[in-house]
Amino acid sequence: MNQHNTNVFDAVVVGAGFSGLYMLHRLREAGYSVRVYEAGEDIGGTWYWNRYPGARCDIESIYYNYTFSEEILNEWTWSSRYAEQPEILNYINFVADKLDLRRDIQFNTRITAARYNEQNRNWEIGMEDGTQVTAEYFITALGCLSASNIPKFKGLDSFKKEVYHTGRWPQEKVDFSGKQVGVIGTGSSGIQAIPVIAKEAGHLTVFQRTPQYSCPAQNHPYDSEVINETRQNYAEIKQLMRYSMHGVPSAPRMKSALEDSPEERERLYEKAWQEGGLFTLTYNYNDIGILPEANETAATFIRSKIKKIVQDPEVAQKLMPTYYYATKRPIIDTNYFETYNRENVSLIDIKAEPITEITPNGIKTTDKEYELDVLVFATGFDAMTGPLFKIDIRGKNDVSLKEKWEDGADLKTYLGLSTSGFPNMFMLTGPQSPSVLSNMMVSIEQHVEWVADCIDYLREHHLEAFEATIEAEEFWSQQCQAIADMSLLTKTDSWYMGANIEGKPRRFLAFSGGVGLYRLICDDVAARGYEGFTSLLSSNGTDESLVKEGFFKADIDPQAWFVLKQLEATGAPPMESLTPDQARKSADFQLLAGAPEEVETVINRTIPLADGEITVRIYTPASEGPLPALVYYHGGGWVIGNLDTVDVPCRMLANRARCVVVSVDYRLAPEYKFPTATEDAYAAVKWVAENAESIRVDPDRIAVGGDSAGGNLAAVVALMARDRKGPSLVYQMLIYPVTNHSYDTESYNENAEGYFLTKNTMVWFWNHYLRDEQDGKNPYASPLLADDVRGLPPALVITAGYDPLRDEGEAYAERLKTAGVPVELTRYDGMIHGFFWMPGVLAEAHYGINQAANALSRAFHVV
Ligand code: NAP
Repeated sequence: MNQHNTNVFDAVVVGAGFSGLYMLHRLREAGYSVRVYEAGEDIGGTWYWNRYPGARCDIESIYYNYTFSEEILNEWTWSSRYAEQPEILNYINFVADKLDLRRDIQFNTRITAARYNEQNRNWEIGMEDGTQVTAEYFITALGCLSASNIPKFKGLDSFKKEVYHTGRWPQEKVDFSGKQVGVIGTGSSGIQAIPVIAKEAGHLTVFQRTPQYSCPAQNHPYDSEVINETRQNYAEIKQLMRYSMHGVPSAPRMKSALEDSPEERERLYEKAWQEGGLFTLTYNYNDIGILPEANETAATFIRSKIKKIVQDPEVAQKLMPTYYYATKRPIIDTNYFETYNRENVSLIDIKAEPITEITPNGIKTTDKEYELDVLVFATGFDAMTGPLFKIDIRGKNDVSLKEKWEDGADLKTYLGLSTSGFPNMFMLTGPQSPSVLSNMMVSIEQHVEWVADCIDYLREHHLEAFEATIEAEEFWSQQCQAIADMSLLTKTDSWYMGANIEGKPRRFLAFSGGVGLYRLICDDVAARGYEGFTSLLSSNGTDESLVKEGFFKADIDPQAWFVLKQLEATGAPPMESLTPDQARKSADFQLLAGAPEEVETVINRTIPLADGEITVRIYTPASEGPLPALVYYHGGGWVIGNLDTVDVPCRMLANRARCVVVSVDYRLAPEYKFPTATEDAYAAVKWVAENAESIRVDPDRIAVGGDSAGGNLAAVVALMARDRKGPSLVYQMLIYPVTNHSYDTESYNENAEGYFLTKNTMVWFWNHYLRDEQDGKNPYASPLLADDVRGLPPALVITAGYDPLRDEGEAYAERLKTAGVPVELTRYDGMIHGFFWMPGVLAEAHYGINQAANALSRAFHVV
């Protein structure tokens, strides 16, 4: 450990806010020499600089503190639900004193440059005053929102009186009494400051660009009961926070906003409004951030509240937000909308009346000049990357971070903690980490602990020059964007997207999969020897590169990978450990399917069989005259699955291929073993052909299709129809079909587990389906074994790269081709089994469904 030379440290940490302080503590406790540099006069970071009137936290205080020390937890008592800035700063000071942190912090020192020395494998870190130190590890603890943004208004510097930015508020109290005050900006900071300033100012003019959704904080003092109960249960609370979505000990209710009646929704939203809190309203449902229609229910509710609170209807109208709710950081307030009922407050909509310049006396808009004594910029921050770019950070080959990420290139990190080309540099709460979307304290503790453990590991294993691989950061960055794209987050211009800063490249700047999932991933990376990173043996060893293989497959689709991780995180038992009934109940994948689209008519009806009846669901798009038909069989290994599982793709196929889709609820195994499902499937196609007219179907244009076990049934029905001289089929659409009772393909080996459908589950399915081994050799169970596949209808075969069934689907396509059957075969390389019915979360499901619909259209000649 470097402990003697005052210019050489094991680690240099930049920033003495919550993350820098904990990093110092952790590393120092582990015996490393650490120096923290802080530009401010004192500790506190965000809470040191943001001392504007009304500043308080939007996470409940009892969850917004360090949790690593029980002693600290027990010795500190928060006064109210949402602590004010001075109280939070007091808390930070209390911790710093208790842990004696100040002795290793150098204040009033701005780091201006940090350069990686490849020869010495360390960082040379330079200060504003020209001093330089070196350290093996360079750790940025800069905060995500510390580079304040003052828009470049014309005449900005000409204003003669007082000017402030909320994020750089002076230590001394600002006196607003009797003054003409102007506030530009109505984000979280503006919305907190405006009600407080309004009470004191002579007149307050708010210059608003985008109206905001805000809910009441319902702040109140804590009573001792809450504090005691929290203390007693903190171990459990901590676990809940750590494995949650946003770092708070609660979670969204697993229900769609569209499932409740408008009255029930209203009741729940009203209850949330009265209760207050950052996530209370959105957590009523799990799709407010995903489905526009669900989102609109919450947005409409908040707008109705604004209308009720604000007395002047014109002002109320100006305050009505229209973007998707919660796609900017949700805001909680104390009397924000009420403030516009005050005589001394006016609201200027600067979209209607743009600011043209700042003048010596105030703000000039296209309509008039507003004279001001005080001008407050509540205009936010150059978030996430801004603070990093303020330091000239240079990695290998003297490439700067800014060049790497912005100048013609793209932001890329691995886990938001590291970026390739910058060895031994760690970013706490960096871009592409979940930090800004969460309770920051939970993210901070996770980051610091992961980094500290990583440094221990490197030392123990004599590893140096630790950096992310290009492949790993490429993957992670795609991942961050893809996950965000699944939600509404990327549909709004926000600082999460870099949209608040002129010229800043647009892309989603955080990991939006939640802190729990993020923690699991980071732990996984560490447990596998820091996969996705490279390092070199230390000087007494050789220069042999220890490149760790990625734990992920670089070419798996990031959205599919995320689905897998999410399913893994549910901890659901493997299907084969359940009874068929339990498996049917547990397999509810509605969220993966997404919102069902409208089809002109959708009806369920029963159709007769020789020995009973089954249900079919008939989707008919708007159209005149007889339509072609697709008879569709759902998947589920002949054991699970039902009409609902494939409701969304059936609707999409009906609308896109302009055909009637008849989805068949064939009887399931093990109650009904082979060949019941095949006979039911065949009976359904016969019924459609014989009753075509009654369901507006053209009997000469019938196709069969299905996915997985349903693909098997479709292929088998095509064989049966040929063999039995039954209905003449124009097409077979086989989506990752089961074609052979065998587990010996390469794809079974490669994808036996970890990709949704496992080999063991397939064995379980087959065992329930077949009466005996002999059945498995029957071509109506294993169509690949059919003696002759000539004379079958043309086929579309779609397979997925990460699917045990990939090779048997492709083998069947090859057999058909060899026998002269026209075949369109497409492998969706990055996809997993089941993707066809996951359009709610996978873009490729849309491509697959569109491809199938186009192929059907061509087969039906209705293009
Ligand atoms: P912000 O959310 O980025 O809001 C900035 C405001 O300034 C917006 O109303 C924005 O309008 C406006 N603005 C920006 N550029 C402008 C321009 N050129 N002309 C006119 N208006 C302009 O910043 P913030 O309020 O400081 O909050 C930033 C983040 O800090 C929050 O999202 C939150 O994460 C955190 N924060 C938390 C708390 C808390 O814990 N309670 C308090 C404060 C801040 P547009 O919307 O049109 O861009």
